[in-house]
Amino acid sequence: MNLELNEEQTAVRQLARDFVAREITPHVVAWDRAEEVDRGIVKKLGEVGFLGLTVDEEYGGSGGDHLAYCLVTEELGRGDSSVRGIVSVSLGLVAKTIAAWGSEEQKRRWLPGLTAGDYVGCFGLTEPGTGSDAGNLATHAVRDGGDYVINGTKMFITNGTWADVVLLFARSTDAPGHKGVSAFLVPTDTPGLTRRTIHGKLGLRGQATAELVLEDVRVPASAMLGEEGKGFSVAMSALAKGRMSVAAGCVGLAQAALDVAVKYAGEREQFGRTIAHHQLVQELISDIAVDVDAARLLTWRVADLIDRGQPFATESSKAKLFASEAAVRAANNALQVFGGYGYIDEYPAGKLLRDARVMTLYEGTSQIQKLVIGRALTGVSAF
Ligand code: FAD
Repeated sequence: MNLELNEEQTAVRQLARDFVAREITPHVVAWDRAEEVDRGIVKKLGEVGFLGLTVDEEYGGSGGDHLAYCLVTEELGRGDSSVRGIVSVSLGLVAKTIAAWGSEEQKRRWLPGLTAGDYVGCFGLTEPGTGSDAGNLATHAVRDGGDYVINGTKMFITNGTWADVVLLFARSTDAPGHKGVSAFLVPTDTPGLTRRTIHGKLGLRGQATAELVLEDVRVPASAMLGEEGKGFSVAMSALAKGRMSVAAGCVGLAQAALDVAVKYAGEREQFGRTIAHHQLVQELISDIAVDVDAARLLTWRVADLIDRGQPFATESSKAKLFASEAAVRAANNALQVFGGYGYIDEYPAGKLLRDARVMTLYEGTSQIQKLVIGRALTGVSAF
């Protein structure tokens, strides 16, 4: 793998840095306190091309390779994990999955709006009764003439209350295939679909996380994404790439922890000199730095594998596992550098820790990533 960024990759990273400095950083604390990111950010992300990365220009995408996608995701995660998550879901889990699995009609219907930021997408897999055991989901879709009628509840859906379309996973009645799960593209204004915002999150407060309830939601059979009964493969393929995106966001978050810790250590004085002079403070900082580098290298390797058409799912789980745990450690170490000031939200470390904490939980918990990696190494499924 060539670790040197090419001109295009360097330019897109700078574009992302400038965007974050201009459009995100000045608002981060206010959005976190208000529990809502300004929705106008979605259109701005679309205009600058960040919602169309890796998607063909023919469908409104901005092209680019997966390393460029990682670089942008990293910078967004460095700025605000709530905004990063909006992109990781709307582009990473929804638009990219439509691009990979969709019919021509579905691509033309959804991709230009999603990549432009005119539409927001959400990914509806988790349910109140099934999280890690996602394949056991209970939402069901019953064929009725040319339609499917869907009933069920989805939990913790990122972008849920904002979304125009949900990529929804349901057990379809007569599917002969893998676990009988099928994927559907359901417009959120379809009668019978209601949404409830989940408040009181520890972190990612700016994100619109929702519970979706579907009561006799009727969609045409043409709303099915991929073949009937292949929905679990659709979900797993989306998550394999999605985990790289979460990992990249974690690298950005850990980098932000390093940035603020180094700056503060150079300013704060105790025992007659800045705390950067104290060896144990340097230990905290160097631990963050090593975590950042290791997480970044694991993540870039996944991007490189995808761009070269190589298998990447296990490496993506490794990157997500390591980077998410590293982000929590990095933010916690940064908070320690800030002392008591780290505990109040006028200073950035506390938010970084709150935002980092969920990264080891969603898109497969750390335990689930270990089972994925263990299965690949031993050939034995321990799920
Ligand atoms: P459980 O599955 O109940 O797990 C509880 C504990 O048991 C965990 O520690 C887990 O690791 C452990 N465990 C479970 N099974 C095993 C096993 N076999 N071996 C060892 N340990 C095990 N979902 C979506 O579909 N779309 C979204 O957009 C989305 N966004 C989210 C945003 C936020 C802020 C949050 C908090 C969650 C989001 N999720 C989303 C859901 C998320 O993916 C799930 O919370 C996650 O998969 C874990 O499921 P669970 O919460 O039901 O925990």
